[in-house]
Amino acid sequence: MSNHVTVLKIDGKALDHNLQFFKTRLNPNTMILAVVKAFGYGSDGVLVAQHLASKVDYFAVAYADEGIALREAGIKNPILVLHPQIQNWEIIVRYHLEPSLYNYKTLQSFAGFCTEKKLSNYPVHLKFNTGLNRLGFWHQDIKAIFTVLNTNNALKIKSIFSHLAASEDQNEEAFTHKQITDFKAIAKQVREHIDYPIILHMTNTSGILNFPEAHFDMVRLGIGLYGFGNDDNITNQLQNTHNLYSVISQIHQIESGESVGYNRAFIAKKYTKTATIPIGHADGISRQLGNGNGYVLINNQKAIILGNVCMDMIMVDVTKIDCNEGDEVIIFNSQKSIEHFAAAYNSIPYEILTAISQRVKRVFVE
Ligand SMILES: *Cc1c(COP(=O)(O)O)cnc(C)c1O
Repeated sequence: MSNHVTVLKIDGKALDHNLQFFKTRLNPNTMILAVVKAFGYGSDGVLVAQHLASKVDYFAVAYADEGIALREAGIKNPILVLHPQIQNWEIIVRYHLEPSLYNYKTLQSFAGFCTEKKLSNYPVHLKFNTGLNRLGFWHQDIKAIFTVLNTNNALKIKSIFSHLAASEDQNEEAFTHKQITDFKAIAKQVREHIDYPIILHMTNTSGILNFPEAHFDMVRLGIGLYGFGNDDNITNQLQNTHNLYSVISQIHQIESGESVGYNRAFIAKKYTKTATIPIGHADGISRQLGNGNGYVLINNQKAIILGNVCMDMIMVDVTKIDCNEGDEVIIFNSQKSIEHFAAAYNSIPYEILTAISQRVKRVFVE
């Protein structure tokens, strides 16, 4: 049971539409890894994964506990853990999650763990750094990698991958091409050391769109699944998946000189009608959206946020809007409205979506 009237509706049909959009841009045999980290980009990672399980090849999460949640919900697809932690090897193996090994320390430690447990051919993924400089082995580490791998058959390389630093940025095309070239050289060299097939993958959503030559065997689809491409043209062809709704708790009529909210941040210059809505910064509505920077929709009209965003509530201006207590409020229900929030404080849709806190009730609409 949930006593919250603020609800995030996750649109399963929109997910399907978006997946299909990307499938048409891939070779029919290119595999799809759906990225469901961070609660499925702030939606519900488990519900999204259950919906997509039969339609994609792989899932990726950032951390081991996210992968465990998928396994406990019955997900059977292989699950790549992008940022495993050494203290989690035990549960990673117990839930048959596949770690990304990105440096000598994680490789040696996991190889040691699997050897000790007498495991063989445990699937792992080698992450190579080609310019993002976040996680990853360097090209010149390949020899050292195989001195560890060749001591026994505890580990089996399922894939090697890398991540583009600026795939959405046409001005950085030369840099991206350099990354792709480097990755191809890495793949060639790795293959000289092994006699079994491995999966190569490099592109996220904007990489899929901008660099078809880097699709390789699999692509890692994240934000595109949730409705955002790297320009308006693509985003308009995708459908919004995150729909955040609330209701009006109370309406106040205030006179000139009266204030609204903490620190009296809004002072009415004239008669003003306000609506109080049960969503605040603890739900993911940044305080930076306060004081007129953000708006919500009530009866299809913009109601700007008055004064400071509270922890649990906002107050909005409904002076010119015909509305009542209990009426529906749309916090956002389109990519445009999510982009409006992002633009209001120099953020990006990724942050707006993932900020929706766990207090907000999730409903999956098939
Ligand atoms: C999050 C992530 C992705 C997905 O990126 P999108 O831009 O959301 O498609 C892909 N690969 C890695 C390594 C990631 O961390």
